[in-house]
Amino acid sequence: MGFGRPRRIALRLLLLMAAAGGAAFPLSAAAQQLAARPAAKTAAAHAPETALKGDRARTRFIIGLERTVEFQVFSLTNPNRVFVELPDVMLQLPPQPGEAAVGLVKSFRGGQSAPGKARVVIDVAGPVVVDKAAIEKSKDGKTTQLVLEIVPAEPGASTKADAKRTTLLAGASGLGAVGVQPPIPRPAVSPQMRALSMFKPVIVLDPGHGGDDTGAQKNGTVEKNVVLAFSLMLRDKLNATGRYKVLMTRDTDVFVELNKRREFAEHNLAQLFVAVHADYAQSSARGATIYSLRESVANSLQRSARGEASDNILSDKELAAAKPMDGDLGAIRGFLADLIRLEVERNRDRTSVFVKSVIEHMGESTNLKDNPDRTAAFVVIKSAKVPSILVELGYVTNQEDAELLKSEQWREKVSASIVTAIDNYFSNQLARMPM
Ligand SMILES: [Zn+2]
Repeated sequence: MGFGRPRRIALRLLLLMAAAGGAAFPLSAAAQQLAARPAAKTAAAHAPETALKGDRARTRFIIGLERTVEFQVFSLTNPNRVFVELPDVMLQLPPQPGEAAVGLVKSFRGGQSAPGKARVVIDVAGPVVVDKAAIEKSKDGKTTQLVLEIVPAEPGASTKADAKRTTLLAGASGLGAVGVQPPIPRPAVSPQMRALSMFKPVIVLDPGHGGDDTGAQKNGTVEKNVVLAFSLMLRDKLNATGRYKVLMTRDTDVFVELNKRREFAEHNLAQLFVAVHADYAQSSARGATIYSLRESVANSLQRSARGEASDNILSDKELAAAKPMDGDLGAIRGFLADLIRLEVERNRDRTSVFVKSVIEHMGESTNLKDNPDRTAAFVVIKSAKVPSILVELGYVTNQEDAELLKSEQWREKVSASIVTAIDNYFSNQLARMPM
C-alpha cells in the first residue's frame, strides 16, 4: 500500500496558498513569512500585555513575550489558520474568545511544539493575511509583545504592504532556550475549555463490515448489525456532549471498502479513528480487546511519512508555482516538513494514550480479555496521520458475550464508558497540542 497522504495534505495547503498568491491576491493569503530582527535584549517581563480586539476588517492579536525573539508567521488555508513559530520562550496569550469569534479570531492554542520551539495556532474565520507582525515594547516600556494585525485576504488587499513584508524577511533561529508556558487548559468546566470546544475535534467511527459482508455470526448475533447499533449509540452520546464533530464511515447496512474507511478519516483530518468490531473464536474466549497498529508496521509508516516530508514536500513544478509568492521557500518547505514529522511522531504517542484511556474506562463497564492491549496490522488502522484503534467489543462465539452485544442496556453502559475515555483522552495535552 502506498503512503502519501500526509504529503498530500501539506501540499494541498501549500498549493492553495500558492494559487491564492498567484491569482486574486498577490502574496497575501499565501504563505506569509515574516521575521523580525531581534532588538536589544531586555529584562524578563512581568505580566506582559496581551490583547485580542478588533473586528472582521482588522483584528489585533497581541502575544506577551518574556523577551525579544525571532519569529515567523504563516497563514494557511484549509483550514484557515495563522501559525506563529517561536523559539522556546515564555509566552502569554490573550483571553480566549467566548462563544462568538473576536473579529477574525475564532479560537487559538499554543505551547511547546518541539524541544526548543513554541507555536501558536490561531483559527480564523476565513482566509487571512497577517498585515503586520512586529515585536514592540509595551507603553511603559517594561514588557515585550508580538503584535499581529490580521486582515481578510481579499482581492485588492495591499500590494504595498507586500513589498514592505518582503523586506522583513530574515532567517529564523531561536535565541536560546527557556521554559515555555503551555497555556493549554485542563478539561471540564473552565471558560477557557468552553471556548476551546468551539474548535471541535473530528472523530471518525467505523462500524466494521456491512452489506454482503456480515462479519462474524454465531448465537443469533450478526457482527455487522451489532457493531452498527453500538456505533450509532456512541455517535449520539458523543454528539450530545457538544464537544466533538462525529463522522461515520457508514451509518447504514452497506459495505465500505477498507482503504476507503481509513482514507475517509485522513481526508477529514480526523483527530481520532475508532473501528468497532465483534470477534469470533473457536474457544470459549470472551471479553473486549483494543487493537492498535503493530510496531513494525507503524515504524515503516512513520519512516515513509518522514521521508516524504523531508524529500518530496515540494516538487520542482510546485516550487515554480510557489515562486511568485516571493517568500522564502526553504523556510516554507522546512516548516511544512516539520509539521508533518511532528504530527506523525505524535500520533503514535496519541494512540497509546488513547488505548490506555479506553482500557481504563471500558474495563469498568464490561469484561476485557486478558492483556486487552493488542497490536495487529488491520488495514483500517494503518495510518500515520490519524490516531487509530480497533475495538473488538466481545465474542459472538461466546454465549454470554453474544447476548450482551445485542443488549441495549449493555451498549448504553459500554458506549458511555468510551465517551468518558474519549473525554479523558482529549483532556491530555498531547491530544490538544498545536499542529
Ligand atoms: Zn470484524
